[in-house]
This record gives sequence, structure tokens and C-alpha cells, in this order.
Amino acid sequence: MSKEYWKLTFPGAGKTYSLHNHSEFSDGSGTLREICLAAKSAGIKVFGLSDHWVEPPEEGMDSESWAMDTGRLDEYTGTLLQLKRELDDDRFTLKIGLEVDFFFENIDAVLKRLADYPLDYLIGSVHYAGIFPVDYQAADWLPLSDEEKSEICRIYWEKLLGAAERKEFTFLGHLDLPKKFGLIDNGAYFPQAVKVLDVLAGNGGAIEVNTAGFFKECHEQYPAIDILKAAFKRKIPVVVNADAHSPEHLQRNFPEAYQILQHAGYPVME
Ligand SMILES: [Zn+2]
Ligand SMILES: [Zn+2]
Repeated sequence: MSKEYWKLTFPGAGKTYSLHNHSEFSDGSGTLREICLAAKSAGIKVFGLSDHWVEPPEEGMDSESWAMDTGRLDEYTGTLLQLKRELDDDRFTLKIGLEVDFFFENIDAVLKRLADYPLDYLIGSVHYAGIFPVDYQAADWLPLSDEEKSEICRIYWEKLLGAAERKEFTFLGHLDLPKKFGLIDNGAYFPQAVKVLDVLAGNGGAIEVNTAGFFKECHEQYPAIDILKAAFKRKIPVVVNADAHSPEHLQRNFPEAYQILQHAGYPVME
């Protein structure tokens, strides 16, 4: 039996949620305390930290530079439990999460290890196609041929489909991340996105609207509106997140994201 994590229900989480946020435990700035205090004073009611958890299955991926030191998980969850005792009340709930990188090679072992920790939820994300870092920098994409770019995208979507099949993930992160630098024809991968949504619809999975994309070369949220419309048709729950890497960004572009969700068919969520 796999551990049961938090599940979102359709249509999803409302405007006072923010569940995808990073601290100095991975590649964000600000201590856990600073970020939680900022969330509470901003009026966020259900707030989650989700620092990067990456266990690379092969050499050459440099994930230590941006993911949590795997020896620090006790410290991370212990600090958050302490903050939860201190800050939780009838208008604020702290949730303890991780953004977990999905690899076919070791996902069973990774999830088994994480099951021993007091984690409320896991975000399933893909940041690598092989050892290629999909979202690290445009310079990694620029020398690639069209064929190489589509191979990266093919692997990316295949991995995301693998992540969708795991019931442990409360939601998947930034669905169409390869569009980040504006260097691919994202619409060409719509069928792959639909496959992912079909799997999520079948197993109670969810997605996020991630507003970080507004501030990248793609100039829009992840995922694109067509994918959100397809998600709505399948009654897939959604949560709007900023993927904040600093305490000022915990609700960045939320109004825009909720408007887009309405265009996609989702009801107004308070
Ligand atoms: Zn991510
Ligand atoms: Zn993130």
C-alpha cells in the first residue's frame, strides 16, 4: 500500500491557497519562518512549502545546486512542524510539501523513502529529459536542432505521463514547462498534455496553474489555456500557485490566473 497524501477535489483550491513555494532549503530565498510569516500576513489561509526534492538516477545533473540537500529532510519537516504548531489557527493552515522530480528509474524508492516523513503533499514535476535540464537556461536550448528539441519534449511528456500515473502526487507541477523560453511550438504537444489529463482524471490527480511562466520568455502561465479547457472538461481539480522563490511572490499574478481559469470554464473559486 502506498501512502495516502492530500487530494484536491474538483473544481480545486480557492484564492486563499498557495501550495508551490520554495525557501532557502532549495533554490528560494528566505527562511521557512520568514516565508510562513509573510504568507500569514498576506492573508493566505492554506499555505504550503514545497522545496525541490531531486534524487538524480545518473551522474552529470547538477541538481545539488538547486535542490534540497537530501540529508536535510528531517530539519525541513521538523522546522515546518514547529512553525505549524506556532502559526496554525482558524485562519491559517500550514501544509508540508515537497516538489519531487520524477524519474522512471527510481520513483518507487524515492516515494518509499519519503513515506517515512510527515509530509502532507507532494508535487510531481519533471525538470530533466535524460540529463538535459529543461528549464535551467535558454542557452541550453539555443544550440539544439528542431529534432533535438522535439526529442527533449517527447521525453519530457513521457516522464510527465509516468508522474501522472502515481497516485502519491497531490498535483503535477507546471505541465507544459518546456515552453518556458519561447523556443518550441508548445501547441504541437497538446495531444501529449491530453494523455496526461486523461490519466489524472482516472486516478483523482490534479494540476496547478503556475504563474511563474508570466515572468519568463513564454509570457503566460503554465499550462496554456487550451490545456486548462481540456482539464475542465475532465473535471480535474486545479490550484493556482506562484512557484515563488521569494516571500514577495507568494501570490504573484493570482488575479490573472483566476481570470484565465474562468475563461477555461472553471467556476469562480473564493
Ligand atoms: Zn518546478
Ligand atoms: Zn517549483
